[in-house]
Amino acid sequence: MIVTRFAPSPTGLLHLGHALAAITAHESGDDFLLRIEDIDKGRSRDKFIEAIFFDLKWLGLSWDEPSLRQSTRMGAYAEALVNLKARGLVYPCFCTRAEIAQEIARAGEAQHGPEGPLYPGTCRALPAEEGLRRMGAGESFALRLDVAKAAVLTGPLTLKEHGHLHPVDPMRFGDIVIARKDMPTSYHLAVVVDDAHQQVSLVTRGEDLLPATHIQRLLQALLRLPEPSYAHHPLVLDDTGKKFSKRDGAVTLQSLREAGLTPADIRARIGI
Ligand code: GLU
Repeated sequence: MIVTRFAPSPTGLLHLGHALAAITAHESGDDFLLRIEDIDKGRSRDKFIEAIFFDLKWLGLSWDEPSLRQSTRMGAYAEALVNLKARGLVYPCFCTRAEIAQEIARAGEAQHGPEGPLYPGTCRALPAEEGLRRMGAGESFALRLDVAKAAVLTGPLTLKEHGHLHPVDPMRFGDIVIARKDMPTSYHLAVVVDDAHQQVSLVTRGEDLLPATHIQRLLQALLRLPEPSYAHHPLVLDDTGKKFSKRDGAVTLQSLREAGLTPADIRARIGI
């Protein structure tokens, strides 16, 4: 019994890339789930959730009802955070983006990860009392995972991509933010908690998220969650070879539908 999911963030209209992700997940599973990743309250909109339902139905996809909204799952993410905190794997980080950039410039070199320079670890060295004092004084802070410490705890890990085992490199994003300054969780934490909660056994999604799998496997191991298999698929590219983004209004499913394309045309366009 293979359980897959499509997990869009309702921060814009779905485009061709989402259509490929949704159809791939739908066709790869016996059970297909829909998860609305709306932890970012500032950017998520109900109208985009409605549009997701509408577009998926138009494509002919149906999912096990009800769909799961991450905004209803904050308690579960908080529990996972308590677990990580209790084991000393998390530290408060008071750095602003500007301070991080300055620190990197001062050091003259930075390790780079899939999303740019890695956090230089400034607040990892902060004495615990100092952290508590600044939190008590009302300074805003994110929580970061001490990845090196976490990796020692888990020992070497693997991830299963398209049936093949690969070694996990947990350090590639550095000390990731596990709870943001403006919300008590993060993308990575919410995804692993919910993939386990929904008993997802095969994660299919665009290959731009393959690097994220390394940190997600680390979190699964730390939280003793079951390990899904992964099958990342190539991205749908535009005519210039760039991946589509939510800003490209012309390729939203809504605009293509309004221009007269049928679901069969969409499948043909994305190579299904
Ligand atoms: N919510 C993420 C996105 O829209 C996808 C998360 C995932 O598939 O793991 O990009």
